[in-house]
Amino acid sequence: MNNENMMQEAVTANDEPPPSNEEPATTTQLSSTPGTATPPQPRQSPKWNDWRWQIRNRIRTYKELTDFFPSLRSNAGIARVAEKYPMAITPYYASLIKSTDLSDPVYQMSVPQGQELLAPDFLHADPLEEEEDMPVPGLVHRYRDRALLMATTMCSMYCRHCTRKRVAGYQESCIDVSQLNAITDYLRAHPEVKDVVISGGDPMTMSTSLLERILAAVRSVPSVDIIRIGTRVPVVMPQRITNELTTMLSKYHPVWINTHFNHPNEITPESAAACAKLANAGLPIGNQSVLLRGINDTPQVMEELCRALVKIRVRPYYLFQCDLVRGVEHFRTPISRGIEIMEYLRGRLSGLAIPTYVVDTPHGGGKIPVLPNYIISSSPSHTVLRNFEGMIMNYPEPMEPMPRTPPSTNARSGSPGVWEVAAGHSSAITPSGSHRQKRRAARKVQRGDTSQQHPEFNLLLESLMSEGGG
Ligand SMILES: *Cc1c(COP(=O)(O)O)cnc(C)c1O
Ligand code: SF4
Repeated sequence: MNNENMMQEAVTANDEPPPSNEEPATTTQLSSTPGTATPPQPRQSPKWNDWRWQIRNRIRTYKELTDFFPSLRSNAGIARVAEKYPMAITPYYASLIKSTDLSDPVYQMSVPQGQELLAPDFLHADPLEEEEDMPVPGLVHRYRDRALLMATTMCSMYCRHCTRKRVAGYQESCIDVSQLNAITDYLRAHPEVKDVVISGGDPMTMSTSLLERILAAVRSVPSVDIIRIGTRVPVVMPQRITNELTTMLSKYHPVWINTHFNHPNEITPESAAACAKLANAGLPIGNQSVLLRGINDTPQVMEELCRALVKIRVRPYYLFQCDLVRGVEHFRTPISRGIEIMEYLRGRLSGLAIPTYVVDTPHGGGKIPVLPNYIISSSPSHTVLRNFEGMIMNYPEPMEPMPRTPPSTNARSGSPGVWEVAAGHSSAITPSGSHRQKRRAARKVQRGDTSQQHPEFNLLLESLMSEGGG
């Protein structure tokens, strides 16, 4: 294979002719009652189950949208928003819209809204600073043992709440051979990476053969233990989950899937069948929901979603607080709403059905789990806990004190985390470059103290501690 071939295959949406009018998918789908949507008739068409047909017939323009949903004709603002943030809705996903207004979760997640143009200054195009943690183009290496490979910028449906609004959908292209080679070289040089998440965009919009090239390349790195694929295809274009695809994926085990259901309305016979195919091919499926205002921000909807997911063998994995991404302000809830939901789920639902609620923090701070407080109080002899009912109990601690856990290499290398401090292997984590630190360093220099406290303060502390046997 050569670069050109791979690129060509990629940009034409996977060996398909570009979207055209040759398939007049929209002419027979007019709904007559304003505000309600009739399921598009091609559902009966034999092509409905062909994922390439679904891709070719995505709703991409305001015109196509209003052909589908005439009641939106008075809403020309949609066109302006779609110019800034691309729109694509598969006919399948559009068929899940029951009402073309903000009461409909599928509508809200797929049809552009004027509020996307809100841009308060605390919102950023790349709030997670993924670009800063990219050692080679297309690979985000933030956590020591995991890396995220951005395989393509294309998705079958562009979620209005997407965290990668800065990349998704502008070009619809995927990584080329030289980028893929650079990524595998990096992975080979960094054997600490054990887990590669193939993401995008949506990698399952690529042809099976292209996706296979990426999987084979990642699998060729001996230090990679597991491969994960992040995809919304089971939700927005379940027709993509073909036997051909699952057979290919299962050659590269262990492969895990993370998908993205946000609302019970997305669980349909089609999406359930897609998940069953994946699970039957030995691909464990996790779900990453985003907490979205007006969509799934009540405890009751979240309970229904989590229950429905485990029924189709999808394990609720993460519930994400909405990121500080430009264009999604109208979807954000306070963090307290997420905590309220977690409070509600615990005790009502099996632990198997309860996701971890995380805030993916600005400045590349990464994912931070957030929970209600269950520890009421503690003393050296007892920990006081409360359960979801409000019952308060003590847990007597063992009479014999515990031996200390052994230090990790982080403490010795001068890069301790909170665990190193808690376990007594490091005595402090100090912000570097604060005014106070600089003043202290300057005073030391004045006093003729040669030991430099800044910026190697942690290293210094660590060496002092190990000298003192602490
Ligand atoms: C979320 C994420 C991962 C995977 O994290 P898990 O908690 O293991 O699911 C890896 N890299 C980056 C940059 C991420 O944002
Ligand atoms: S599928 Fe994922 S990457 Fe694509 S638009 Fe939705 S959230 Fe963004």
